[in-house]
Amino acid sequence: NFILAIESSCDDTSAAVLCNKKVLSNVVATQEIHQKYGGVVPELASRAHQQNIVPVVHQALAQANIDKKQLSAIAFTRGPGLMGSLLVGASFAKSLSLGLAIPLIEVNHMQAHILAHFIEDREQESPDFPFLAMTISGGHTQIVLVKSYFEMEIIGETLDDAVGEAFDKSAKLLGLPYPGGPLIDKYAKLGNEKAFEFPKPKVDGLNFSFSGLKTSILYFIQKKTKENSEFVTENLADICASIQFTILEILMDKLKLAVKQTGVKRIAIGGGVAANSGIRSRLANAEEEFGWKTYIPKFEYCTDNAAMIGIVGHFKFLEKDFAEQNIAAKARYKLSS
Ligand code: ATP
Ligand code: FE
Repeated sequence: NFILAIESSCDDTSAAVLCNKKVLSNVVATQEIHQKYGGVVPELASRAHQQNIVPVVHQALAQANIDKKQLSAIAFTRGPGLMGSLLVGASFAKSLSLGLAIPLIEVNHMQAHILAHFIEDREQESPDFPFLAMTISGGHTQIVLVKSYFEMEIIGETLDDAVGEAFDKSAKLLGLPYPGGPLIDKYAKLGNEKAFEFPKPKVDGLNFSFSGLKTSILYFIQKKTKENSEFVTENLADICASIQFTILEILMDKLKLAVKQTGVKRIAIGGGVAANSGIRSRLANAEEEFGWKTYIPKFEYCTDNAAMIGIVGHFKFLEKDFAEQNIAAKARYKLSS
């Protein structure tokens, strides 16, 4: 089968074409406009999606070298995400499915971040069931027990900020541009992760909290800057390394607890923060250190992309799990089985 997939939940407009589990094309138009504002502006995001969606879909079809008449179905992100952004993708997908008279498939974005591991690619291996998925992104932080393609149970999640937000807000305090996560990662490589110490939150069980970390970094910077106005510039690499170290400790502690509680040692990560080099090397080391088997998706399938929507579309297509034309986008769309 040939599935056209559309992703427009946040600030990336993406379209992909899959043939079964293989990606024929995966085009992503990242909206640069938000950098100026230090964060995603919802109104501007939906306008940019409106401008990008047709050219991005054309490009995806052209790169896949197929005609739209060959498509078997259209999959789109129903939620969670920004309502104005979701509406653009949902309306486009509905119209095209009607125009071509082919089935429409709705996809949960968080399920897609997890099933991205099943995209067939020489550079990545798929986990066996059951496995633990840790989805770490700009809007979410979850540990999910994945029993099959469609049976997923959230066993831990953040009570406040997402881990990507913790990276981005910390970066903002350091005067770095948005999104600051990749920059913290970059500077952290040059610094000493033990230079400064930040407190880890005390949250029972498998849930996370990141808002306290941001506050303690703010106080730390205010105090140090009073003593030396050049403190941040002179110590940027050490500060970034120490922040990243604290965040990674929090993530790894919860993963260890999740393994202990479930007995499942297959760990798959996903979401934009899975691009972080620190978490990648921690997980790679955990294979030897704790006997885990770890799965890290290819970089382009970590951040928001339509290929991951397409793989969910593929599995739903096989089940004939199609959506009606009156389906509505959902800004809050809980992952459940
Ligand atoms: P969601 O998937 O929850 O809707 P989103 O679409 O904003 O959220 P993604 O595109 O999956 O999230 O991820 C973006 C986040 O990943 C940003 O917060 C960004 O800073 C972070 N990020 C990307 N690369 C890195 C990196 N190398 N190190 C740390 N954080 C990173
Ligand atoms: Fe995402």
